[in-house]
Amino acid sequence: MCGIVGYIGFREAYPILVKGLHRLEYRGYDSAGVALIDDSNKLSVLKTKGRVQDLEEYARDKNTTGTIGIAHTRWATHGEPSNANAHPHYSQTESLALIHNGIIENYSVLKAQLVAEGYTFQSSTDTEVLVQLIEYIKKLNNCDLFTAVQLALNQVVGAYAIAVIEKGNPNNIIAARKSSPLVIGLGEGEFFLGSDASPIIEYTNKVIYLDDEEIAIISRDKEPKVVTISNIQKTPEIKELEMNLSELERGGYPHFMLKEIFEQPQTLLNCMSGRINVEGTNVTLSGIIDHKDKFVNARRILIIACGTSWHAGLIGEYLFEEFCRIPVEVEYASEFRYRNPVINPDDIVIAISQSGETADSLAAIELARKAGAFVYGVCNVVGSSIPRNTDSGSYTHCGHEIGVASTKAFTAQVTVLTMMALAIAKEKKSIDEVTYVKLIKELQHIPSKIEQILKLNDEIKKLSLIFTYAQNFIYLGRGYNYPIALEGALKLKEISYIHAEGYPAAEMKHGPIALIDNEMPIVIIGTNTAIYEKVVSNIQEIKARNGRVIAVINEGDETIKALADHYIEVPHTEECLDPLLSCIPMQLLAYHIAVNKNRDVDMPRNLAKSVTVE
Ligand code: GLU
Repeated sequence: MCGIVGYIGFREAYPILVKGLHRLEYRGYDSAGVALIDDSNKLSVLKTKGRVQDLEEYARDKNTTGTIGIAHTRWATHGEPSNANAHPHYSQTESLALIHNGIIENYSVLKAQLVAEGYTFQSSTDTEVLVQLIEYIKKLNNCDLFTAVQLALNQVVGAYAIAVIEKGNPNNIIAARKSSPLVIGLGEGEFFLGSDASPIIEYTNKVIYLDDEEIAIISRDKEPKVVTISNIQKTPEIKELEMNLSELERGGYPHFMLKEIFEQPQTLLNCMSGRINVEGTNVTLSGIIDHKDKFVNARRILIIACGTSWHAGLIGEYLFEEFCRIPVEVEYASEFRYRNPVINPDDIVIAISQSGETADSLAAIELARKAGAFVYGVCNVVGSSIPRNTDSGSYTHCGHEIGVASTKAFTAQVTVLTMMALAIAKEKKSIDEVTYVKLIKELQHIPSKIEQILKLNDEIKKLSLIFTYAQNFIYLGRGYNYPIALEGALKLKEISYIHAEGYPAAEMKHGPIALIDNEMPIVIIGTNTAIYEKVVSNIQEIKARNGRVIAVINEGDETIKALADHYIEVPHTEECLDPLLSCIPMQLLAYHIAVNKNRDVDMPRNLAKSVTVE
């Protein structure tokens, strides 16, 4: 959601900024813009509604020189996507230009005060209020830009990552964050700014992650200075990035999403590496070992997440209850944070988020910590806010995920949750040794089984052609595969814009069955479970009403083959590991239907990769 890029150094800033914006496109946005200070100290803003490419087109015959600049991709929250609402925003006298990710919640109060002082506004954004406020404070106090930003941020309620530059001051970028991510890249005599490290990695692997309420003064030829909004000097910790550039390229695939689907055998190996011993007899997660008493004595586990991560959390519920015998509740972070939940000091809260920046999850964590619970993060982006604000955690280690519709991050989350459940169960002695070892060994076979399913890509592509023009889809699954029905429906909705609903298969009779006719495709996950016979009955009920059944089945399942209109065969595995296999055909089916419909698969409309506003 929204992208920020900044550059100050000895090179021309514009090409670096635009390339950086392209790198951040995956986050989702609706407009783009840059602000530059040229050699004559002139500050200019170029911005437009649309894609980064549209900005490049617009800027083609304009002055884009200068060795300092800031750039932005906007994901509208206040005011429609338009040229006027795009960032950067000028202040009244056009002496400042500012970009912002987040929401200034008290913008209307601040705006009324500024209007009373004679300020006028060019946009309907909350952001423009902030830049005007900074200018107003700067004039009123006759202070420098840093001080004005610091004073202004003390008046702001809300979330922000901002960068500001000033006409006549080509040596400084002022940047600050609260609840929205911001990373500073340290090169040789040049500095970079990014919402994440993807615009930076090409130039340096040394970074500083800003913390909440910190302001950075990024000057030419000087290490950045970091000061809090309450004026405490910080010594920034310089970290080394693990990301590599090839993760940001499509590597021969038509879309990042397809590349990421095909990466899963490898990403799951990476996720397990160093955690499962070579013999496949033990799983060790340092995040759990270091706090094993907490887990052994936990009264309850609360899993907090949003979207696809919430579906992974549901699978976690089944795993923790089955193997650890700990009661689990899975919560939408956005609901949890506002409903005065009961949180006990002996609860464990597990927050799951690909980006580690999900605004609602961060707020939910804050609430849990205040209530004294132990908070564990399951995130992909190393160094992101959730890992930095939790007591312990496990990274999913699946590499940079660019496709907005999550695939490899989901399977890695489920893998981490499986390893967590096994490790805790072992500590609690709630699992017998034979089952423990059997499940670990089978988990090690999952990557090669996924490899086998990926060979069905062409078959699934053909199948997708039959259903490209369907208006609605129903997805059904039971037990461990119920969350996969939800996830399958979500994948299809997200990228093809076809309406789809997921249900536990038996719930069908309580409503959705009314929708079934000969037009309705029903994807049913019928892989072997303890309640296989019941799934077969569900298929019979659909066929009796002429529904069109696409079944995901285990290899050689002649019973469902005879009933279903279409089937996709996946290898056998242990029931609790089934979601890791059955989700792959869901991902491929959604992908191909979206491609057939000519959708923007990697950047579906209205969606953002990292939801940094609530
Ligand atoms: N709230 C700001 C706006 O609507 C920033 C949105 C964003 O994060 O891109 O302009």
